[in-house]
Amino acid sequence: MANNPYVHDFSGKTVVLTGAGGVIVSKLAEGFAQAGANVALLDLNEDAANEAAEKINALGGGKAKGYKCNVLDKENLEAVREELNNDFGPCDILVNGAGGNSPRATTDNEFHEEGLDEETTTFFDLDPEGVNFVFSLNFQGTLLPTQVFAKDMVGREGANIINVSSMNAFTPLTKIPAYSGAKAAISNFTQWLAVHFSKVGVRCNAIAPGFLVSHQNIDLMFEEDHETLKPRGNKIITNTPMGRFGEPDEMVGPTLFLADEKSASFVNGVIIPIDGGFAAYSGV
Ligand code: NAD
Repeated sequence: MANNPYVHDFSGKTVVLTGAGGVIVSKLAEGFAQAGANVALLDLNEDAANEAAEKINALGGGKAKGYKCNVLDKENLEAVREELNNDFGPCDILVNGAGGNSPRATTDNEFHEEGLDEETTTFFDLDPEGVNFVFSLNFQGTLLPTQVFAKDMVGREGANIINVSSMNAFTPLTKIPAYSGAKAAISNFTQWLAVHFSKVGVRCNAIAPGFLVSHQNIDLMFEEDHETLKPRGNKIITNTPMGRFGEPDEMVGPTLFLADEKSASFVNGVIIPIDGGFAAYSGV
């Protein structure tokens, strides 16, 4: 079975995942562990990382451990690398999952109009600090862990990096200019890394999840009861040909495919949409 290119076997591999206390990346960690990998779950929220690791360990498969880690703090990343190297050995696969938006970089309305009241956050009110925060979390938050962990990966057989892009990288979404720009930068950086590391055996690809419900977007999609769709949530469903939100476990298969040296050995620099057809649909 281990040599069958269509069956994923990550036994003996160390997979490092950032943002791993969150909805999507905790599922990716579970998928890797179920396929035999030891998984290091890094998150700013230590409790969330530990809780996700506990759940994974209860399932059997590869071992999981949570680490408190800020992807924007290089010293902290270096210290975590040393700790997890002692626990599991050097990193084989890095999943750069930490990311997100901020209300400080979000307009209230989709289109600018004249005569809006002072309470409305328009494009002109976007907080430069909020914009910096979003660019930094998504872009630097991918670049810095890659600088730290790719040192283990250069020249290591089967080593590769998976970044997490988004639908808004292909076409920007209304209201969230900074997050859209930052994710476009992630897609671009994915291609840059794929080229840069191509001579030393480290592939780099990305997944671009479509619309899932998560902590960071639930208030944009749903009313306070978290059940009734807001107009924006409705619009998303209407523009998703498959007519529903995605589920976190639907992100796992494409990620394991990209990370598996047997199945994706010649796949480098791609961004795979996992979106129920959203990116393919013009709306007409
Ligand atoms: P989430 O909010 O559930 O998880 C994000 C995790 O990142 C959280 O656990 C948070 O504590 C952690 N984090 C935040 N700042 C950090 C930092 N500085 N250092 C370390 N960890 C930090 O969100 P999610 O939906 O699971 O998102 C995971 C990735 O997927 C993100 O990059 C997000 O932009 C992307 N994404 C999400 C969707 C969606 O619909 N949910 C769609 C496309 C892309």
